[in-house]
Amino acid sequence: MSRKATIEELAGWLKRQDDVVLLGHISPDGDTTGSNLAVWHALRALGKRAVVCLPEGVPGMYAGLPGASAVLLPEDELPFMPKAALAVDVSERERLGEAGVRRFDACPERAALDHHQTNPGFGQLYALDGEAAAAGEMVVDLIDALGVPLSREIAECLFVAISTDCGHFSYANTRPQTFCAAARCVGAGIDIAAITEGLYRTRTEGRTRLLGLVLSGLERSADGKLAWARLTEDMLKRAGARREDNEGIVNYLQEMQGVRLAVLAEQRGATTTKFSLRSKAPVNVARDVAAPLGGGGHDLASGVTLELPLEEALEKVLAQARAALDSTEEQVKHHP
Ligand code: 5GP
Repeated sequence: MSRKATIEELAGWLKRQDDVVLLGHISPDGDTTGSNLAVWHALRALGKRAVVCLPEGVPGMYAGLPGASAVLLPEDELPFMPKAALAVDVSERERLGEAGVRRFDACPERAALDHHQTNPGFGQLYALDGEAAAAGEMVVDLIDALGVPLSREIAECLFVAISTDCGHFSYANTRPQTFCAAARCVGAGIDIAAITEGLYRTRTEGRTRLLGLVLSGLERSADGKLAWARLTEDMLKRAGARREDNEGIVNYLQEMQGVRLAVLAEQRGATTTKFSLRSKAPVNVARDVAAPLGGGGHDLASGVTLELPLEEALEKVLAQARAALDSTEEQVKHHP
């Protein structure tokens, strides 16, 4: 049985633990990377042994975060046998990845901290705030509750976590608390110009070339409301790009004038396809597209992975997306 806890309760639980493994989600992003690292710094400040494990490791663009070089893979041999596991920013147990699930389950004490509304709760206790723009927003409160000062290192990790998950304070999930949490980070003395340049105004050559390849294959429905594109393994090779260079590409589809729902289909081997889904309110991609196919995420930004070859999987997702658009239109007509 998993019990929902407050941040204070979770902090109390953490204070009682030692030898902690902190775990992030598959396809790690800025929030899972920054939030896990921030908790890691805090636990070390309390004199505890801790390690961060991210499936696939730290994405290149976050490699400069304080502590990033100490991050391991969940399948790596750890410097100690963890007694407690905390999953940070992981929307469901399976999103830890296979090795992550094994690590998590092997610990006698297990907890989670997350901000995805669809999170069913896992571990013996979990703190969940579906309104928080980022797990990082909750981690600021956790660190306060632990009684650890917000050092510059922690603040840098948390600013990256928060900023990347709310589109640099521009998505609908951005709320007053998001700015307050970020303000705390800025107050701790971080170099905001340098951090945001790295995050938003720098792109590797591979990412730039991949963007060109993916967008040149863009397709659109007759009414223009649905846009989709494919990212194949061949494109990755041709662009000299890494898997993580996919980040943000789906936004280009979504930002096209008139598009209400965007789908990026990413080939992951011969029989696996991962989808990034984005929509404009009131179209809800988590509830109406991802969830019915076994995926999850946020109302306007979600994803699903299907064990099907790319074209077959894409056909399925596009049919679901079309139905979501049509049913939303019907609802708006009847309840404007
Ligand atoms: P992205 O499109 O950036 O990979 O993911 C957007 C959001 O959708 C993430 O925050 C994550 O919660 C969710 N998501 C992405 N891929 C999957 C998936 O394969 N399965 C599930 N359940 N959720 C996903």
